[in-house]
Amino acid sequence: MKRISHWIDNQPNDGTSQRTGVVFNPATGLQTSEVLLADTADVDTAVASAKTAFESWRHSSLTTRQRLLFAFREIVNERKEEIAKLLTEEHGKTLADALGEVQRGLEVIEFACGIPHLLKGEFSEQVSSGVDTYTIRQPIGVVAGITPFNFPAMVPMWMYPIAIACGNTFVLKPSEKDPSAATIAAEYLAEAGAPAGVFNVVQGDKVAVNRLLEHPDISAVSFVGSTPVAKHIHQTASANGKRVQALGGAKNHMIVLPDADMELAADAAVSAGYGSAGERCMAISVIVTVGDAADRLIPKIRDRMSSLVVGDGMDPSSEMGPLITRDHRDRVAGYVDTGIDEGATIVEDGRSLIVSNREDGFFLGATLFDNVQPDMSIYRDEIFGPVLSIVRLDSYQDAIDLINRNPYGNGTAVFTNDGGAARKFQLEIEVGMVGINVPIPVPLAFHSFGGWKDSIFGDHAIYGPEGIHFYTRPKVVITRWPDPIHRGVDLGFPQHH
Ligand code: NAD
Repeated sequence: MKRISHWIDNQPNDGTSQRTGVVFNPATGLQTSEVLLADTADVDTAVASAKTAFESWRHSSLTTRQRLLFAFREIVNERKEEIAKLLTEEHGKTLADALGEVQRGLEVIEFACGIPHLLKGEFSEQVSSGVDTYTIRQPIGVVAGITPFNFPAMVPMWMYPIAIACGNTFVLKPSEKDPSAATIAAEYLAEAGAPAGVFNVVQGDKVAVNRLLEHPDISAVSFVGSTPVAKHIHQTASANGKRVQALGGAKNHMIVLPDADMELAADAAVSAGYGSAGERCMAISVIVTVGDAADRLIPKIRDRMSSLVVGDGMDPSSEMGPLITRDHRDRVAGYVDTGIDEGATIVEDGRSLIVSNREDGFFLGATLFDNVQPDMSIYRDEIFGPVLSIVRLDSYQDAIDLINRNPYGNGTAVFTNDGGAARKFQLEIEVGMVGINVPIPVPLAFHSFGGWKDSIFGDHAIYGPEGIHFYTRPKVVITRWPDPIHRGVDLGFPQHH
């Protein structure tokens, strides 16, 4: 049985903890590996390594860091098929989807390759006679990253390439459900030339997380995961004096106005609702139809659902794979039961799906509900599975108000051909990432990613310019050269002349 270890000081590390977790291939339902689950001492070893490395890495030249990122980019790009295969084996998503994930991660690495430009400071000449002022951005120290199961390669790449490029060192605690992508990234970074300790991986669960949150040598914590854990991370790490960005869960709505291109809207609903089996934080889970849009949209969605191929992600013909664990699959199926009990109309029911030759896999078919009401649990909760709900409303304003009342604010979309309606949406909607005729508005790496409300805790969105700000702190320097005028002692507040 494969054993997945920590990675400390540029080598695999077996730690001291005796605890292990189970990693499955979700398509077969069989265990493929065991993963070490760190105890406090293992975390301390990784943080000590990162702390020692920081002392020299913080002084590395910008070009040294840039070359490391370029070399890493080349390796990841060359081996993206290999990484994608690993993702499919442990996560279940289709190979094509896994390749897309690696590609989106690569884009952040490519952004970080521009670090010499991104870290240019600001300079004001002659703010007073003979006095100049400049602001420089310096690294903050050892940074921890804590990441979810649904993007095991990409979400860590939202963090560590930028953190390392800024001169920090990093300790990653990936999801214990699909931990291999983190270790592979660590091997590739070492191969690219990262000095020992610059990037460490601690495998584990909440024991490791909670130690990172209180460790005195951790300066900042980047977290992506569910809202309850994001809140805990934000509160605990903040109370311990750390800088924190904690991205949480989502309930993403897509409004379809009566004038929308219904073919486009149906394609978008099916792709964004069922892609990656709904296990994306930017998945659409609620379609809000206005006026008669539902009656024209639903047949087109059903058409597309009838030909969806669900199967092992390794099979190139599969469009949707299994869910991450049996427990999660059963939890999502439980939501479908509850939706029916609560009075929603089930239009397509995925509960009875069996995938031949993969009978023990964690599969659930695509499911569609109509006439969903905002007080039903299928509307209120983040289901994180292939379940789409349709809420019918009479007016556009009601649709906007519904979204603005929702506690989550990660992503949203409107489908319309009316420029004024689209502009109203952009202006009024209280959500951090907005799509206009685009169902999954994930920004490219040179913008930043982050929701609003209960989808994020902390002041900074992730990657892009916000990432640079999060992983550095500004230092302002005021100089006087030369200063031939000796004004003598003056206890008054400094004035500019
Ligand atoms: P999760 O919150 O269960 O786990 C995330 C990380 O936190 C993992 O590393 C896990 O080991 C750790 N963890 C779990 N419980 C903990 C606890 N009680 N104390 C301390 N640490 C704990 O999330 P998940 O199930 O792995 O991922 C799915 C969730 O992530 C969904 O809610 C999804 O919306 C969200 N997500 C959000 C974004 C975003 O950008 N906003 C992106 C991807 C995923």
